[in-house]
Amino acid sequence: MSSDVSPGRIRAYHSGYTPGRRAGQVQRLHIIREDGKFPGRQGLCGQPAWTTTKAPVVIVDPMPAVPPEGLRWCPLCIGHLADRCGRIEEVAATLAADGTVEGSVP
Ligand SMILES: [Zn+2]
Repeated sequence: MSSDVSPGRIRAYHSGYTPGRRAGQVQRLHIIREDGKFPGRQGLCGQPAWTTTKAPVVIVDPMPAVPPEGLRWCPLCIGHLADRCGRIEEVAATLAADGTVEGSVP
């Protein structure tokens, strides 16, 4: 799955939409881990990224600037990604400058 991915490439994934039972549930867009124990097989947050009969996985390659309609970024994946990209201080500083959180985070 990840053999043809060039180093440094950032890919995202989400579980496929399954109409019915999980419809309306917030779906998270994760970042695929390309190294470590399961390269291309799990999110930076540890969530499995392989297709099962109940949850097909949809790869978004390359990572989009904003999640597709109906999806939200996985906060754990984005935090890890910011760290790996050497941007976590920048993100933290930006958030600290804002000083407040608007609304509740689902
Ligand atoms: Zn994630």
